[in-house]
Amino acid sequence: MPTTNADITAKLKALREDYAARLPQELTALHELAEQALTASGAPQTVQLTQLHQRLHKLAGSAGSFGFAQLGKQAKQLEIQVQQWLAQAVDPGQRRVFCIAVGALGALAQPDQSPSYVGVTDAETSAAQTLIYLLEDDPAVAEDIVLNLRHFGHRVEHFDRLEQAEAVILRAPPDFMVVDIVFEAEGRESPALIAALQQKLSKPLPVVFISARDDFAAYHAAVKADAIGYFVKPLDVIRLVDRLEQYLDRRRELPYRVLIVDDDETLAEHYRLVLSSAGMLVDLVTHPEQVLTALRNFNPEMILLDLNIPEYSGPELARVIRLSDEWLRVPITYLSSETDVDQRIKAMGQAGDDFIAKPISDRELISAVSIRAARSRQLSNAIDRDSLTGLLKHSRIKEQVDIELARTRRSGEQLCVAMVDLDHFKSVNDTYGHPAGDKVIKALAHLLRQRLRKTDSIGRYGGEEFVAVLPGCDAKEAQRLLDDVRQNFKEISFSVDSKHFNVTLSAGVACADVAHTLTADTLLQMADDALYLAKHGGRDQICIAE
Ligand code: GH3
Ligand code: MG
Ligand code: MG
Repeated sequence: MPTTNADITAKLKALREDYAARLPQELTALHELAEQALTASGAPQTVQLTQLHQRLHKLAGSAGSFGFAQLGKQAKQLEIQVQQWLAQAVDPGQRRVFCIAVGALGALAQPDQSPSYVGVTDAETSAAQTLIYLLEDDPAVAEDIVLNLRHFGHRVEHFDRLEQAEAVILRAPPDFMVVDIVFEAEGRESPALIAALQQKLSKPLPVVFISARDDFAAYHAAVKADAIGYFVKPLDVIRLVDRLEQYLDRRRELPYRVLIVDDDETLAEHYRLVLSSAGMLVDLVTHPEQVLTALRNFNPEMILLDLNIPEYSGPELARVIRLSDEWLRVPITYLSSETDVDQRIKAMGQAGDDFIAKPISDRELISAVSIRAARSRQLSNAIDRDSLTGLLKHSRIKEQVDIELARTRRSGEQLCVAMVDLDHFKSVNDTYGHPAGDKVIKALAHLLRQRLRKTDSIGRYGGEEFVAVLPGCDAKEAQRLLDDVRQNFKEISFSVDSKHFNVTLSAGVACADVAHTLTADTLLQMADDALYLAKHGGRDQICIAE
C-alpha cells in the first residue's frame, strides 16, 4: 500500500502531539531524579548520575525533532554538566543550581512556532508509457523520430506547428519534449516559446532541442529554455534515445533503502516518516538483537545507527554488522548528539563510517541521508553494473538467477530465464565499425529495460549476449514478452554516416516450474541450448527449451 504524503504528515503530527503530551511527565520524572541524586547528603551515586545522564541525553537528541529546539539545547548543556560530574567530583555548590535548571526545563516545553514538517510532493509514479511531444516541421525527420521512439515503447505525439503545440503542452504536459528550433512556415523559433511555457509550469519539462543550427546563440537560447540536451542535424535518433533513457533511468530508480537502529521508538518512527515522505524505504530496529535479521530481510543500502544504545553501544553493533563480509559494503552512519570529539573519534576507530549530529531538522536529515545513500548506490552500481549498458554484470545476473530460483521454490510461482544474442553481430562491427556496434548493444539494453517488467532483472552476460530473469512468468508469457522485444528491435533503424541498417536478435528461454530441482547453471545452460536452436533455425526468433 503506497503511503501518501498526506498520511505521512498526519502521522508526523500525531507523533509530535504524542511527544508533547508525554513531555510534562518526563520532565517531572527528570526533576525528581535530579533531586534524589543531588540533594541527598554525601556524594551522588554513580548509578543515579548515569541514569540522569542517559535521560538528558535522550531528551537532547529528540526534543529538536519534535519541535522543542530550545528545550533540546538546554538539555544538552545539562547533559554535558552531568558528564563532567561522572568524570570528577561534584561541586556541592553547583548541585542546587543544577536542580533548579532541571526544574525550569518545563518552561522551555513550548513548541517552536512553525512545525518542521517536510512538504514534499507525492513521489511520481512512473507511468507505464512515457509521453513524448515532438515539435518538428520537417515531415521526414519527424517520421524517423516517431517510428524509432515508438519501438522503444514510448507514446509520441507529433506537432508540426508551434501554435498547435502551445495550447496542448499547458493542458497536458508530456514527460519529455523533443523540439526543433526553426519553424519556417510560422516564421518563429521555438526556444523563446518553450522558455515562456516553462515559466508557467509547476516544474520544468525535460526538453531536448534538435536543429541544423550549431552556433552559440542557439545553444544559449536552448539553455534559457531549460534544455537538457541539444542535437545537431542530421539527427542520430539512437543518440537521442540514449539521452532520453538516461533521463528516464534516473526517474525509474528504486527508492533508497535505509535501516534505522535506535532504541528511542518515537524518534526512530519520526525519522522513518520523514525519510518516507522523501520517497525512501525505511526499516526500523528498536531492539538491537534484531539487527541481523533486519539486515537479511531488508537488505539496506545504508544504516543509520544511534551511537548511544543502552546495553549495546553503537560501535559494538557496528562491529557486529561488520563481522560478516555480506554487509561490508553498506555504509554505517552514526546518528548522535555526542558532541565530545574524543567519543566520536573513538567510535569511528572501532567501526562505522561517519556522523550525523542530532538534533537534526527534517530537511537536513533527508538531504544528509539522500547524499549518503546515493553515494552508496553509485559505488554498488560501479561494482555490479556494466559501464556500457548499466545492466547487471555476468556474476551478478547469475546470482540473481539463484535468488529467484530460491524464491520460486517458496512462492510456487514459475520462473523463466532468457538468453538473448545479437545476430551476425561480428559483421555489424566489420561493416559499420566498433562504435556503431556499441550503439546497437546500448539500444538493446534500453529496449529490454523499457519492454520488460519492473520485477525482471537484466544482465549483460557476455559481449553481445544478455540474460533476462523473469519471475512469476510462464513459458507462454516469456515467449510473448521476448517476441515483442525481437519485433521492435529489428525495426529500429541505426545509422552511420547516413547509411541505415537494422539488426536482429535471437533468444532461448528456459523455465523452472514449482517442483524444480534446477541450479542456476543448469537453467542458464538450458536457455543457451534453446538459443543455439534459435540460431540454427534461421535466427531472428525465440526458442523455448523443452
Ligand atoms: P551469431 O548470429 O551466431 O551470434 O553471430 P555473431 O557474429 O553475432 O557471433 P560471434 O560470437 O561470432 O561474434 C560476436 C561479436 O560481438 C564478436 C565481438 O567482436 C562482438 N562484440 C562483443 N562485445 C562487443 C562490444 O562490447 N562492442 C562491440 N562493438 N562488439 C562486441
Ligand atoms: Mg551474436
Ligand atoms: Mg555471441
